[in-house]
Parts: sequence; structure tokens; C-alpha cells
Amino acid sequence: MTAEIIDGKAFAAGLRARVGQAAGLFQSVANRAAGLAVVLVGEDPASAVYVRSKGKATLEAGMASFEHRLPAGTPQEELVALVHRLNADPAVDGILVQLPLPPHIDENAIIAAIDPDKDVDGFHPINAGRLATGLPGFVPCTPLGCLMLLKDRLGDLSGLDAVVIGRSNIVGKPMAQLLIRESCTVTVAHSRTRDLPALVRRADIVVAAVGRPEMVKGDWIKPGATVIDVGINRVPAAEPGKTRLVGDVDFAGASQLAGAITPVPGGVGPMTIAVLLRNALVAAHRHAGVELTERL
Ligand code: NAD
Repeated sequence: MTAEIIDGKAFAAGLRARVGQAAGLFQSVANRAAGLAVVLVGEDPASAVYVRSKGKATLEAGMASFEHRLPAGTPQEELVALVHRLNADPAVDGILVQLPLPPHIDENAIIAAIDPDKDVDGFHPINAGRLATGLPGFVPCTPLGCLMLLKDRLGDLSGLDAVVIGRSNIVGKPMAQLLIRESCTVTVAHSRTRDLPALVRRADIVVAAVGRPEMVKGDWIKPGATVIDVGINRVPAAEPGKTRLVGDVDFAGASQLAGAITPVPGGVGPMTIAVLLRNALVAAHRHAGVELTERL
């Protein structure tokens, strides 16, 4: 079998176009643009690239982007004070503090300072609790993007066996919660799991979020399974001095057996920003008391 390639780039482009349309409608009803504030502390080059692309995508979707860049030495109290100002700002519907933060800042304290109803990253414990208890809230962007790709490909997920590899608060745990909500039978594997290949061999759905290049081997995949590869790993390329991106799954091997698989790059990666824009627009509608008519 040769797997269908799940084109996350195309799906994300479609979602961004729908968000853009809905953002235009929002503006005409609310008499203001939906607004997303992004906070970057320090000069981490990868974070700076993410923040720039999030700002650009926000403007492209017809929303207002508020960027706050603070020096690496910013005291925690100053960052908390900024978050409180953004919480109170009526033009700001969503707040994202780019992680990781410098080591002197307690990330949990900053996440907890964000108004849960502006927490478009879905990292606040209140939103994690809402997800776990089935209440409406904000769901972290990457796992929600994975779920959208899965539902687009498989429709009803009810009764399927799913293995999520990785138990981070950002990807693995919320992914497992989302799959439970869809009535999958979910196994969460992690660094202490015994016999990962045996678990993966049983799974109709495999979501790999580990951060280890090609650790999930092709021959672990159950024939016909759907494989979602969240990993982004930079490895040396064949050409000396060059690098390339690979996922957590051996793509060449797995695509011989899987029914469908996301590539890296071009699979899950583009979904994260698209879902962030979606979450920000949902936040704007709730904040302004405007009904969201478009299904996002
Ligand atoms: P993390 O480091 O917080 O978590 C990794 C998880 O993998 C841990 O729960 C750990 O228990 C598990 N793990 C480690 N070794 C293992 C092993 N040998 N077997 C099974 N499990 C093992 O990472 P994260 O933030 O969840 O990110 C995971 C990957 O996803 C990274 O490559 C990251 O770059 C990528 N990522 C991509 C996006 C995106 O596409 N937009 C977003 C977030 C993360």
C-alpha cells in the first residue's frame, strides 16, 4: 500500500481563507478588527521567526496584530504587568506569550496570569481543565490542527484505537483529550513506555509528538493506519554543511503501510498558525458577544 499524503499546507490555507472571511464579517458587525497580541521575551532566533510569521499571518487574515518585544532580562513582574494590561485592553481578544521564556521567568506563572478567555494557546490550567471536562474553552493549536486533519480524512473517529506518543502539556496530553472526546480508545506512550512498537502496531491512529528524528519505524505501522507526525527535527542533509527537516516517523517506511500520513514539512506544521488565527477569531466573537456563523 502507498499512503495518501495528508496535505496540511493546503488544509491550513483553506482554514486561513475561511478565518479571513469571517474576520471581515466580524469587523463589519463589531466595528473593530479582531486583535491578537503576541509577546516575545529575549532574542531566541527560532522564537523571533515564529513571532514574525504569527504577526504577518494575523494581518493577512484581516485582524489587528499587537507585537510586544521585551529584552531577555525583563523581570517577571514586568511581564506579568504587561499580561494584565493586555487582559484589560478591549482591543485585544487573544494573548500569546511565546515560549520558551528565559530561565529566570516562571512559565507557569505567566500562563496563569493570562485571562483564560484570551488564552488562545489553550495553555492556561482552566482551559486544560475545560478540555478534560468537556466544557467549551481554548484548545492548544497544534493538537487541534491534528484533530482537524484526522477528521477531514476519517470522518467519524468513534471506536478507533489511537496511540499518542508524547505526553507534553502542549501536544501529547491535549491530543489525547481530544481523541477521547471523539470516542477513540486512547493510549498515551512516553519515554518510560515498554514495548512501543507493539502499541503502535495495534493503532488505527498514530500521533507522534516526541522530538526524535524518525524514531517510529515504518514496520511498526498497522496497514491502513492514519499517521500524524508532529515532530520537527533538523538533521544533517546529504550535502555537506546543509540540514533538512524530518519528523518523528520514518516517512519512507511508514508510507508503505499507512493508509494516510502527514509529511514533514508540509503536514502538521502549517496547521498551528492557522488554528491560532481561528482561536483568536473565536475569542473575538465571544469577547464582543457576536455570533460566529462560519464553521471554523
Ligand atoms: P516535549 O519534549 O515537551 O515532549 C516530548 C515527549 O516525548 C515527552 O512526553 C516524552 O515522554 C516523550 N518521549 C521522549 N522519548 C521518548 C521515547 N523514546 N519513546 C516514547 N516517548 C518519548 O515535546 P513537545 O513540545 O510535545 O514536541 C514534540 C515534537 O513536536 C517536537 O519535535 C516539536 O518540535 C514538535 N512540535 C511541532 C509543532 C508544530 O508542528 N507546529 C508544535 C509543537 C511541537
